[in-house]
Amino acid sequence: MTDKNETADLSAATLAVWAGEEDSLVEGATQVPIVYSAAYGYPDVDAWLDAALGRKPGHIYSRNTNPTVAAFEAKVRRLEGAAAAASFASGMAAISNTLFALLSPGDRIVSVKDSYGGTNKLFLEFLPRFGVRVELCDTTDSERIEAAVAAGCRVLYLETPTNPTLKVVDIARLAAAGRRAGAVVVTDNTFATPINQNPLALGADLVVHSATKFLGGHADALGGVVCGDPDLVGRIYHFREINGACLDPMAAFLMIRGMKTLALRIERQNASALTIARWLEGQPAVSAVFYPGLDSHPQHEIARRQMRGFGGVLSFMLKGGFESVKRVLPGLRLARRAANLGSIETVAGPPATTSHVECTPAERAAMGIPEGLIRYSVGIENPKDLIADLARALERA
Ligand SMILES: *Cc1c(COP(=O)(O)O)cnc(C)c1O
Repeated sequence: MTDKNETADLSAATLAVWAGEEDSLVEGATQVPIVYSAAYGYPDVDAWLDAALGRKPGHIYSRNTNPTVAAFEAKVRRLEGAAAAASFASGMAAISNTLFALLSPGDRIVSVKDSYGGTNKLFLEFLPRFGVRVELCDTTDSERIEAAVAAGCRVLYLETPTNPTLKVVDIARLAAAGRRAGAVVVTDNTFATPINQNPLALGADLVVHSATKFLGGHADALGGVVCGDPDLVGRIYHFREINGACLDPMAAFLMIRGMKTLALRIERQNASALTIARWLEGQPAVSAVFYPGLDSHPQHEIARRQMRGFGGVLSFMLKGGFESVKRVLPGLRLARRAANLGSIETVAGPPATTSHVECTPAERAAMGIPEGLIRYSVGIENPKDLIADLARALERA
């Protein structure tokens, strides 16, 4: 989980290319190998014991650690400025392992109403079954969240920007409230990526990612990761090595390869998303555009304080509601109509089949997610082509 060759003063674009790989290279290869080996052999029992007891570096069994997976963890860890990282088979595995490792019956967790659909299911369906009390607050009501935290909580779980309406949560302010209450502050940084936002630098204890999205960036592999304080990450890692939700080495390789272009991709996606969001604001078929980079965004000032760029995802509402959504989406030529986001190609879809497919229409309404919404994850294409494509599709609204 650590990297011998750390140099503190490299920029994110450089770290994305170089960080974390050195320890896993073999035989002069310049790229991290995909190590498909269930276990690692030690003819010398003393050397085996040293590795097994953590006295010396060395892998024992791939459910615990694996060289390809370790390189991926080290790269994300460096980008988030964290002391430790542990990876998982998916983003939801990272989130559920984090929550189940840190919470016990009788504990209270405070979070926001707009968390990712799967995370919301953990809050509403699974954690209560284990006697964990869950309080979900209005995502943008910082005072309300501060009061809920001050009433006592073990974990404060944040996500920003949120999915799919791109609300922004004030990480520094709420992390301070969490620290005062003795809570572990966790932030889902999937939408922002470490290029745009570093929650640990803003006071969070742990940062989680669905690496499936922007980190991998090519919509071809599932993965998740948690980074932060070594004691906390160690507890979560220990739970994972037992429950077995480990990242596959092939997926880790694809993530490492994808992450080399992370900074380039995010710069392009930040710029294109802002251009497209501004253009959408002027379209007659569109009743609202949600993007933290817009001056009209209610938390634009907070976003400017804590983000270096506003990310590649935006959403917009059609005046004609869900019927319009059903007419417009098939008209797009330059967007996959699929449930993921953060890829090099543009992806679009309604919450009902993407982020909040697990929820009923009533649950979505309670969360303030309109059925006439389209989530649009901007790829690395030329934004002029994307705008022309949107213009053509919106004629069908
Ligand atoms: C997709 C997503 C997740 C879940 O990640 P998976 O890799 O699909 O399990 C969690 N949080 C956010 C914000 C996401 O977009």
